[in-house]
Order: sequence, then structure tokens, then C-alpha cells
Amino acid sequence: MLNGRFLASRFAQLLRGMARNDNFILFLLENNCTSRVDTYNMVYKTSGIVLKRKNFGEADRVLTILTERFGKISAIAKGSRKIKAKLLGHLEPFTQVNFQFHEGRNFYIVTSADIVHNFENIHNDYQKTTRAFYLGELCDKFLESDEKNIEVYRLLSSALEYLEDNNVDLMLRFFELKIIEASGFKPALRECVHCRKILTAGSNFWDQSEGGIICSDCQKKFQHGKKISDGVIKLLRVIEEKDIENATKIKQDNKIEAETEEILDLYIKNILERELKSKRMMKQ
Ligand SMILES: [Zn+2]
Repeated sequence: MLNGRFLASRFAQLLRGMARNDNFILFLLENNCTSRVDTYNMVYKTSGIVLKRKNFGEADRVLTILTERFGKISAIAKGSRKIKAKLLGHLEPFTQVNFQFHEGRNFYIVTSADIVHNFENIHNDYQKTTRAFYLGELCDKFLESDEKNIEVYRLLSSALEYLEDNNVDLMLRFFELKIIEASGFKPALRECVHCRKILTAGSNFWDQSEGGIICSDCQKKFQHGKKISDGVIKLLRVIEEKDIENATKIKQDNKIEAETEEILDLYIKNILERELKSKRMMKQ
């Protein structure tokens, strides 16, 4: 007859076998079961984009990486500042990399990194670099650690690809609106956020604390909101429906673009409760 200890050891064996399987690891991660498999020293594989890095100790670096499979993570690259380190140069901000890492006590530890796309044009152009930093800071601040968000990963990846070959302001507005939506703050652009009445052209207001447009009746009643022009509403609606290639082709006059930037900026500051450093840097 099988005793309890034998069954437990068979189960542990089975678990170890399954833990080698990618899907099972994903299942455990998605169900917050990582502590059960810590002891197996698993290697994780994913592509990711380095958002930022800082020096740590004598020769190590702490990286914030937006990964495809695990969301935003903090990972340590040991010895990555030593000239001989193979990882050096593969871990610059805005480099898309195939990573392997495993779990350490406080951080994930990067064990290998192979460049998929190094976005050379972005790194060689000051304005593009400051814009990429802004996109990276938006991702960093909008996402919680270890929260999977494939939409934001794809958004950043496509925005960097676009920025590599193009440079138009509307790409930033596109990115802002899409990351707001992908983070669960989709603004009401078609009906009043208070009374749900379908908006009509003419007299509407932007209410960043409510997350959308309010009608003039509600504005009179609640006495808040900033006037928003019909051109801005139209632009936001069009951006919302298009992909990056088509959204950036929309012809706009500068006044509408500037107002759209201001409206999105108010909303972002309200959601994040802070001003982004990179936004100031980009404006200088
Ligand atoms: Zn209303």
C-alpha cells in the first residue's frame, strides 16, 4: 500500500517536472503561486524593454524592465558595469532584449540578454531620446510592479519602432491616450461623464478629476471643468480609433494640438498625482 510520504514525494517529483514546462510557470505566476516554486531556481524567459537603470553597489545595475510576459519588473544585472561583462550595452534604456532571469531574494537576476532591437536612431538623436524617456516614464508610473499588461508592452514596442523612423508630436498624444486607456482610465469622449447625455458640438468642458468631458449643464451645476474645443474632442476621438501609423497622419493646426496636449497633461497629472520629470526635460 502507498504511504503518505511516498505520495508526497511523487507529487513533488511531478511538480518539478511540470515546473519545467513554460505554461505551468505562467499558470503559477498568474495565480500568485510563485513562492511554491522558488526553491526550484527556475529560469524565466521573456522579451522586454529596459525603461531605466541605476548603479547598484560596486559593479551591479538595477534595471526596470517592461517585459512581455511578466509586466514591469526590477531586475539586477550583476557586474554589468565591468568592461568584460557580456551584458554591457545590451541593457541600455529603450533597448528591446530577449532576457533570461531567475528569482533572487529581492530582485530578479538577469543571467543573459540578447538584443532584438537597439533603436540606434533614437539613441543618436537628442530629441528622440528625450521623447523615449518620456514614454518610458509613462510606462513606469502607470504600471504596478509584476502586473502583466501585454497591451502596454505592445504599445511601447510599436511607439519605439515608430519613433526610430519618424518624429511627430502626435505620436506622443497617441501614446498618452492609449496608455491611459490600457491602464483602465479610458476617458468619456462621447457622452457627459456626469449625466451620460450624448455630447453635442459647441459648449463642452474637460473634467480631469471625473475622467472625461462634461456638458455645459453639468459644468454650470458643478462649477468645474475646463473649456474644451470641438476640434480637440474630434482629434481625441480619431486618435482613440486609429493605430499609430494612421493617428500620426492626421492633419491638425497647432492650436488644436497644443490644447490636446494640455488636456491630456491635466488628466495624466490627475491620475498619477505627480508631474513627470521627463516631460520637463522634453520641453527644454
Ligand atoms: Zn452632463
